[in-house]
Amino acid sequence: MPESQSLSKTSPDLKKNCVNLEGAPLEPTKEIKNIWNNVHAGMRKEFGEAIFRSWLKPLTLRAYYHGTMEVSVPTRFMRDWIQTHYAQRISTMCTEESPEVKRVQIVVVQNAIIEDNIEPSKNNSSIANIDLKDAIAEISSPLDPRFTFDSFVVGKPNALAHAAARRVCESANVPFNPLFIYGGVGLGKTHLMHSIAHVMAKDFPEKTVMYLSAEKFMYQFVKALRANDTMNFKEQFRSVDVLMIDDIQFIAGKESTQEEFFHTFNALVDQNKQIIISSDKAPSDLTGIDERLRSRLAWGLVADIHPSTYELRLGILQSKRAKLGADVPDSVLEFLALKVTSNIRELEGALNRIVAHADVAKQEITLETTQEVLQDLLRAHDRRITIDEIQRKVAEHYNLRLTDMHSARRARQVARPRQVAMYLSKMLTARSLPEIGRKFGGRDHTTVMHAIRKVEELMGDDAQIAQDVDVVRRALTG
Ligand code: ADP
Ligand code: MG
Repeated sequence: MPESQSLSKTSPDLKKNCVNLEGAPLEPTKEIKNIWNNVHAGMRKEFGEAIFRSWLKPLTLRAYYHGTMEVSVPTRFMRDWIQTHYAQRISTMCTEESPEVKRVQIVVVQNAIIEDNIEPSKNNSSIANIDLKDAIAEISSPLDPRFTFDSFVVGKPNALAHAAARRVCESANVPFNPLFIYGGVGLGKTHLMHSIAHVMAKDFPEKTVMYLSAEKFMYQFVKALRANDTMNFKEQFRSVDVLMIDDIQFIAGKESTQEEFFHTFNALVDQNKQIIISSDKAPSDLTGIDERLRSRLAWGLVADIHPSTYELRLGILQSKRAKLGADVPDSVLEFLALKVTSNIRELEGALNRIVAHADVAKQEITLETTQEVLQDLLRAHDRRITIDEIQRKVAEHYNLRLTDMHSARRARQVARPRQVAMYLSKMLTARSLPEIGRKFGGRDHTTVMHAIRKVEELMGDDAQIAQDVDVVRRALTG
């Protein structure tokens, strides 16, 4: 019987409170047990299966005295949660079942037997014994020491997400909850999350920070379910100060994991604990995620990371070059920033490859060796693009007529776009300079060369040009 097991662990204090002045037995009578069993069964209908399983199932009748039904749960956290959310209704349900019962008192009894029909698993009682911090450290995923704010290059596309991430680390307070960062693959979401965790560990060592992917969250949850150990799971997740879940889109379509996450989320927000989430989509676009949860996810600050620009890519390459201490010419970095646009991970990979190759081959890095080493990668990126197509897109972008691309007009508003088109022709096609010149109204190859140099130079100083080039290039290659 669970009761007798629990009673043997009753603290002296509790025992004193439990003594019935009229001398009624501490052990609940058969009628009381029946009343409780009916009420307990009624909770499942009243609150639904998920809540029942998460919270109410472990409630165990311990004693009855003075119209008070005393029930136990295994952790303080559970007691508080049930107290604030369900206790009142449970009391009423008891009274409805028998007017003699006036109230329900919830007490914490560690090691209370949770499942009376199942052998308690080894872990059921472990939470009281092992250090919760150790358990959390074990669930938390390791942080990449390279993913810090110092190594994160800030540009227009990621400025908001970066500022928000910084803000979260600034004070012990919770500025917004949750912080929701979203953006495409390889754009720095994980990098930012790890950066936050590093700063937190340094500036607020007393805080417990948990970082893990949504996939791992699910794995932990399923593992806990299998081991009948969801109490530990709940306790662990609800006792952290900062919870970071990476790639939340993973739990789309996984209902019970979502349900559990939703409860964790609410419990932490209630306690004013910081939650940080990343996703590949905006909350409203997360199909397969329950509407309630989606709207909660958008409660705090939603910061998106846009696709990178030429400028940002170049900045990241420069920073990476400095870190590697490698001798990579600017022209190679510019070439990479222009060609490898899919995501930052691939961009870094490309730079690593040419540096490693140069090292092994004991060769200097040049534009030619770069093109050679990255042949496969570049080919994948290059659809066959024609100069005609480039001219059309550039004209469209600048609101010009196609004939302006061939004309002799030298007015800046025509000449500059024409130079951009020549530049893109060199970068995106295999045409030689004279061939390109011919396509632009029979211009000389030195004119094309000059145009390319000019555009390269402008892209360094003029964000507008850099962006124009990027937009058109994307339209052509995307
Ligand atoms: P995501 O989680 O969005 O898929 P990651 O954070 O894993 O992307 O980033 C992919 C790679 O690109 C990492 O090596 C990361 O360091 C790098 N990276 C992304 N954005 C930046 C940035 N702004 N500055 C420096 N490195 C970046
Ligand atoms: Mg990531």
